[in-house]
Amino acid sequence: MTEELFRDDAHLTACTATIESIDASGIRLDRTVFYPHGGGQAGDAGLLLLPDGRELAIADTRKAPEPGAIVHVPAAGQDALMAALAPGSAVQARIDWPRRQRHMRFHTTTHLLCALVPHAVDGCSITANYARLDFHMCEPLEKDQLTRGIARLVAEAHPVRHRWISDAELDANPQLVRSMSVQPPRGTGRVRLLEIEGVDLQPCGGTHVANTAEIGPVIVTKIEKKSAMTRRVVLGFAEPA
Ligand SMILES: [Zn+2]
Repeated sequence: MTEELFRDDAHLTACTATIESIDASGIRLDRTVFYPHGGGQAGDAGLLLLPDGRELAIADTRKAPEPGAIVHVPAAGQDALMAALAPGSAVQARIDWPRRQRHMRFHTTTHLLCALVPHAVDGCSITANYARLDFHMCEPLEKDQLTRGIARLVAEAHPVRHRWISDAELDANPQLVRSMSVQPPRGTGRVRLLEIEGVDLQPCGGTHVANTAEIGPVIVTKIEKKSAMTRRVVLGFAEPA
């Protein structure tokens, strides 16, 4: 099991950790600030700072095949550095924060879109340069109208927070489930709820900004009709990369 520090504080950029194992797939740590690819959101990149001051570049982060573990995937061409790693060594894990911040801004915007477009979501992809969200619907969507809707919710500076809720609490509060834009998964014992105050409530394990004001200038760059029942909304940043 890898302790997932990013779940409770998405603004943590670094942590100390101990190497648990190293294999062809990558490096497992006892704890990490690196978000693994999942829920449509890209995995983090960054570096591991070794005790001797050398830096191992991490290109991607993935969920391990075994449940609860996270694999830090090294960038290619670091064989000598990889050979010097040993289980039990202390490292400092540092994410590429500007890149992650872009993921967080886009990811939180996808929640705003869920509030602006009241239809089921059937696909999502979040990268540092664009994001896309697929809605199960046949009605047309208007690009500039959605961009204005996002800008309004960003300007209104809604707080964003998460809380953990047990399956038993969910069962005891059916109105909570009714108010969610996405139905919570059952069976793991607890669910992580993401609330944008007054805007959206849904189960989500991703990383988000702490206030919609942090999203800044995000615009809808394109709306595509992917199929008779799918409308794809593509997001981009209005500022230069
Ligand atoms: Zn989310």
